[in-house]
This record gives sequence, structure tokens and C-alpha cells, in this order.
Amino acid sequence: MTTSARRYSPASVGPDLFEQEAAVLQAARALYASGDSSGESYRAALGELSLHFERLMRETRRLIARSDRAEREMNALNQQLQTLTQQLEYRASHDALTGVFNRGAVIEHAGGILRQSGGAMIVLDIDHFKRINDEFGHPAGDRVIQAIARCLQEIVQEPAIVGRVGGEEFTVLLPACEPGEALVVAERLRQRIATDTTGPAPVTASFGLSLNTPGTAFDIAYSLADAALYQAKRGGRNRVVLAD
Ligand code: GH3
Ligand code: MG
Ligand code: MG
Repeated sequence: MTTSARRYSPASVGPDLFEQEAAVLQAARALYASGDSSGESYRAALGELSLHFERLMRETRRLIARSDRAEREMNALNQQLQTLTQQLEYRASHDALTGVFNRGAVIEHAGGILRQSGGAMIVLDIDHFKRINDEFGHPAGDRVIQAIARCLQEIVQEPAIVGRVGGEEFTVLLPACEPGEALVVAERLRQRIATDTTGPAPVTASFGLSLNTPGTAFDIAYSLADAALYQAKRGGRNRVVLAD
């Protein structure tokens, strides 16, 4: 095998990788051990050794450069994978239209908070939203939903959560919240939405509010708030009703 034909490749890694060098080294050792060889043969052996030593150095440099490149590529791929994983996690838990938590994430996070510390659950639904779609078109309706989500996000801060559970219905969970405070927050949200001018059309929303002790199941808290929301609708809309 010639030197150039023996360049490193994964297939060439194995017991024969240093075959030529081993032979040259063995010959040089034998010459050294014999002790009575001529200067010319020492010179020839030294020449052979230098040749192979240089080749090994070249190959080693090449291998190091190659492995550095592979490491850089692997790091870049790892980075891409992490970014993609984060994007996937975000998409799996957030509503594509508004960026707030989607239904599944609301149930998971709000459920966990309710179990641990309880809290106030607010369910709100845009009033007469069908009319917006009918009058201004579906894309304008979408922008109204986005504007409502922005209003909610302006007021609701972590660790409270905001989510879109249905088409034009949102849920807010305020962890371990006093009744008076929960009513104030719900009322602020209602007013913020009713006076918002960033959307394509003015809208109002109706609110149902339930107060829940630690350990309350999500479904219970939600159905209480939903029943209160229904009363708010029947009572004339654009209002907050506290569940019995
Ligand atoms: P109410 O005051 O009783 O809540 O009346 P409403 O018109 O808001 O309620 P209704 O349930 O009759 O209509 C809700 C409408 O919301 C119907 C549906 O087409 C619309 N909608 C649901 N999801 C979306 C969405 O993502 N984008 C848009 N543009 N419209 C949606
Ligand atoms: Mg509605
Ligand atoms: Mg609705």
C-alpha cells in the first residue's frame, strides 16, 4: 500500500494502519541491534524513519483538523436540535393565533396550580363575536381575538396564567388569590377590553369567576366559572359575575 493510498478513512482504521511504519521501525531496530552495520545502511534506515515519521505527522494533523471540524459540526447540529426542541415545546403548549397557552397547557398548568395552592379562575367570552365575523370578516375577527389576548397579557403577570381554551373564550388563573383581589383583576380586564382601541372593532367580554381552595380539580373550578359566565351573558353581557 502506498503512503497516499493509506490516508485515513474509517474503513482503514484497524490493525494494519501502521503496518508500513512497524516494518520500517522493526528494520531500524534490527540494524541498531546488529551493531556492525555500515554507516550507509544506518543513513538509509534513518532516511526511511524520517520519511515515515513525517508522514505520520501529516496524517495526525489531518486527523486532528478533521475531528475538530466534526466536533464543530456536531455542536452546530446540537444547537439546532435544542432550538427545534424548544420551538416544538412552544408550539405544543401555545396557541398559534395569540401566543397565550393553548387548551392543553391551560388544563395542565392551571390544574397543577389549583391542586397545590388553589386560586381564582376567570373564564371570559367575547360578546356577540359572531357579529364581528359577519360584519368585518373572519381575519378581522382573528385580529380582535389577538387584541383581547394582548389586553389580558398586559394585566395578568406571572405566576398567573392566561390561556385560550376555545374559539373566542379565554381562561385566566390567579394562584392563591384573595376574593377581593380576584374581583378587582377581573374588573380591570373587563374595562381594559371594553376600552381597547388597538383591535379592528370595539368589543366587550363577559366574565365568570370562581374562587377555589387548594386541591380543587380543574373541571370543578372551570364549570363554576363557566356557570357564572353564563349568568353574566344572561344578565346583559360586559360584566363580571362571581360564582355562588
Ligand atoms: P355571545 O355573546 O353569546 O358569546 O355571542 P357570540 O356571537 O360571541 O357567540 P357564538 O358562540 O354565537 O359565536 C362565536 C363565534 O366565534 C362563532 C365562531 O365562528 C367564532 N370563532 C370561533 N373561533 C374563532 C377564531 O379563531 N377566529 C374567528 N375569526 N372567529 C372564531
Ligand atoms: Mg362569545
Ligand atoms: Mg363562546
